[in-house]
Amino acid sequence: MTPYTHADEQGFFGRYGGAFLPPHLEGPVAEVAAAYAEAIADPSFLDEYRELLRDYVGRPSPLFLAQRLTDHLGGARIYLKREDLNHTGAHKINHCLGEALLARRMGKKKLIAETGAGQHGVALATAAALLGLECEIHMGGIDVEKQHMNVVRMEMLGAKVVAVETGGRCLKDAVDSAFATYAADYEDVFFGIGSVVGPHPYPSMVRDFQSVVGEEAREQILSKEGRLPDVIMACVGGGSNAMGLFSGFLADEEVRIVGVEPAGEGVETTRHAATMTKGSDGTMHGMATRLLQDEAGEPSSVHSIASGLDYPGVGPQHAHLRDIGRVEYVSVTDAETIDAFSALCRLEGIIPALESSHAVAHAMQVAPGMGRDEVVVVNLSGRGDKDVDYIAEVLRGR
Ligand SMILES: *Cc1c(COP(=O)(O)O)cnc(C)c1O
Repeated sequence: MTPYTHADEQGFFGRYGGAFLPPHLEGPVAEVAAAYAEAIADPSFLDEYRELLRDYVGRPSPLFLAQRLTDHLGGARIYLKREDLNHTGAHKINHCLGEALLARRMGKKKLIAETGAGQHGVALATAAALLGLECEIHMGGIDVEKQHMNVVRMEMLGAKVVAVETGGRCLKDAVDSAFATYAADYEDVFFGIGSVVGPHPYPSMVRDFQSVVGEEAREQILSKEGRLPDVIMACVGGGSNAMGLFSGFLADEEVRIVGVEPAGEGVETTRHAATMTKGSDGTMHGMATRLLQDEAGEPSSVHSIASGLDYPGVGPQHAHLRDIGRVEYVSVTDAETIDAFSALCRLEGIIPALESSHAVAHAMQVAPGMGRDEVVVVNLSGRGDKDVDYIAEVLRGR
């Protein structure tokens, strides 16, 4: 374990993190922290988790040399960590299974969460079905209409989808609604957070459950190349897939680490979600972190072509890693993302998620300037089936 990977006892990474909660939620969240600390010290808990990752998720996910993309760019060798091949098609199942196992161990009957586009809701509903837990997903009314397919999937998996019709009927209202339900019923309910965000212990816990990605990638690249990569990169929304990959390499000072944020229509416009580039310190969703906020400290409305990156905050460990200079954060635009999406489809026969396409876009920018003997590892966080109708529309418009 390296100093980078541990929060202090209050859950702080430098000046970020912590648990900023209304008094009535302090007890329930502290209970989760205590139960998690006990669970990860219990080999039988970890054994069951690893067994599910292997037999249910299909891990380890391959590390694939994208040879045609590499040849096309004429520089560094590009490897893709294939989280898109996991059951349910993305990395989210890794931490949802961990959270569901912990919930069951704590004697909880129900998982509750909010979801924006529905990806987290589907992964959590999947884990709930597998472990025989009830599941209730709160979703803004507008998102329920827009993301019909994911609503159907969650319902098929046995989850109850609550359409939130208050306020702006979007993600923020879904968060409030899910938290209110949790506060009223926490004896029986576990709150399943969808990224390395929220109050302590969630940023550390979700990171730990995702760290399998980095552990595998490190072993795989050592076996394929006989050495560590020169650069690794991943897209950053809340930051869970990125923290998963990064945590395997933080102690390797010679490995450059890059987080890729959504620049949307440009960081000079108001239509982006580049928290690291344009954000400032603040408090949101129970944590101190960097965020995009207005003068009153309210989270700004943000935009990305990838709904999973459309978040005004970022995990506190990322904010800290930026502060100490261990990880660089860059941004790519919607347009660059679409080009990277198309390139991966045509050159490798892989349809990537728009979120993951951000990381591919950055790889395509840096690989040509690197030597042919250099190595880049890109986290391909998910598959793009969910995005094809939307992209077809965008491409028709061009
Ligand atoms: C949700 C999602 C993301 C963004 O979440 P992080 O916590 O930043 O990883 C990225 N890629 C895919 C495929 C997603 O579904």
